[in-house]
Amino acid sequence: MLPKNSGFEFARPVNETPFLYTPGSKEKKEVKAKLQELTSEVMEIPLIIGGREVKTGNMAEVRMPHDHSKVIARYHKAGKKEVDQAIEASLAAKHDWERMPWDKRSIIFKEAAAKIAGPYRATINAATMLGQGKDIFQSEIEAVCELVDFFHFNIYYMNEIYKDQPESMREIINQVEYRPLEGFIFAVSPFNFTAIGGNLPTAPAMAGNTVIWKPASTAVYSNYMVMRIVQECGLPPGAINFIPGAGSEIGDYVLEHPDLAGIHFTGSSEVFRNMWKKVGQNIDNYKTYPRIVGETGGKDFVVAHATADKDEVITALVRGAFEYQGQKCSAASRAYLPESLWKELKDDLIAATENIKVGDIEDFTNYLGAVIDRAAFDKHVSYIEYAKKSNEAQIIAGGKYDDSKGYFVWPTLILTTNPRFKTMEEEIFGPVLTIYVYSDDQYEDTLHLCNETSPYGLTGSIIGKDRDALLKAEDILTHAAGNFYINDKPTAAVVGQQPFGGSRASGTNDKAGSLWNIIRWISPRSIKETLNPPKNYRYPHLDEE
Ligand code: NAD
Repeated sequence: MLPKNSGFEFARPVNETPFLYTPGSKEKKEVKAKLQELTSEVMEIPLIIGGREVKTGNMAEVRMPHDHSKVIARYHKAGKKEVDQAIEASLAAKHDWERMPWDKRSIIFKEAAAKIAGPYRATINAATMLGQGKDIFQSEIEAVCELVDFFHFNIYYMNEIYKDQPESMREIINQVEYRPLEGFIFAVSPFNFTAIGGNLPTAPAMAGNTVIWKPASTAVYSNYMVMRIVQECGLPPGAINFIPGAGSEIGDYVLEHPDLAGIHFTGSSEVFRNMWKKVGQNIDNYKTYPRIVGETGGKDFVVAHATADKDEVITALVRGAFEYQGQKCSAASRAYLPESLWKELKDDLIAATENIKVGDIEDFTNYLGAVIDRAAFDKHVSYIEYAKKSNEAQIIAGGKYDDSKGYFVWPTLILTTNPRFKTMEEEIFGPVLTIYVYSDDQYEDTLHLCNETSPYGLTGSIIGKDRDALLKAEDILTHAAGNFYINDKPTAAVVGQQPFGGSRASGTNDKAGSLWNIIRWISPRSIKETLNPPKNYRYPHLDEE
């Protein structure tokens, strides 16, 4: 399916380079001005169905996590009526969208990437900072760079898939047509990455699918801006329909629809499991078996070997556990450190954690901002309080929280004597790292312990200098992490470099931003054309003599 009269191909892209926002830089001035502009108004966010703005009057507010008294937007929430309209619009748009030459479809997203990397860079960053509480650098690396990479790399991988064609014979021409799925795709995105919000609806759309996109309530602000940019770049009406609203209300209703062709989900394991159950309950009603792609929770680990460099471990732990307030699915949240190294690094790790500056992300000197909302704050506090009361654990740094202005939770280190302590097993999704110190001669047992402790399998790191020890970790932890890091922190996967996703309770591991993901939105049709068809049904073996 190459473009008409052309063997055009998209070249392998290079990753978008993050801007540094150094003092006095042009980009810093632009973001600061945009932050001011956006906080001086209250935006009204409609649904977008069939390319049109839809206002339901059933409103919810977008408040800033670091100053919850400040409303920066009000958005309209979808109900069943709008879900019906969105599904109708997506089915109506399907015919033309899937027939648009794929390279032309792709150019819409190429243009969106160019706009996000260019004129809308400050807007997307400021919206992500204000709505989701990211500092400028955390926003820049994902809301801009990762999203731009998703657009470019997904197109490239789609190109690679389309090129894969079967062998033809002299008188038989074989082709594979990479059809989109039959029906609509339901994209449901999480709060914590603007890039994931942008990727979940667009990856299936690039492959010719039409999509209903339900963003997370706490990410509506930036996600709406992404939607507007894609529209501005020529996305036809109905190809993606933007319907914020209550997850379970919208979700349960959409999942009953006979034309559901696929789910592209990122969020918690619990929500994903419930969606899967719903699909099971409705299986007799669907016209096709829905493709289910879900990237979910994690309990990501760092294991250090006794040969690890002290400063490398401290850096991996502090950056890996606390950046973006620990609200990355990949964030380190349990660490296994050998006794000898622990003695060496304990004081410095505590000092580094205590020195982290927490506050308003509009002040660029703050390393951490507030956590996303009241529910997240309460959850983190409950784990901290649980640890404080336990006789198996001790808070050795942080443990403070304050929700008077924003939802602030200070980076917290819990030291436990029980390797299966609650905070070593459960996803907290906040700036809380639990440490278990093992005896140096128990390295291999500790790797097994790490492998068996949590139901998740998303990310993990091994840090050390001894090659045999590293190999042992790589082997024993084969299924413990879909993204495995050696001598690095377990966060910050880059599209095209470390395809991202995990298995076990962490998801279907369809690797966002890779060929493995795009393949899920495609249903190949084999086309055989015979040039000299036989004219007699009998085969030679049917004659005895
Ligand atoms: P969440 O599960 O609370 O929400 C995710 C989305 O699901 C939201 O849009 C929400 O409104 C929607 N939703 C809720 N109930 C629903 C239902 N019954 N039917 C349909 N949709 C429903 O997750 P979150 O708090 O936004 O994000 C944090 C979680 O996401 C963490 O568990 C984190 O590990 C995970 N996450 C995973 C990855 C990954 O790649 N593995 C990446 C980012 C986040």
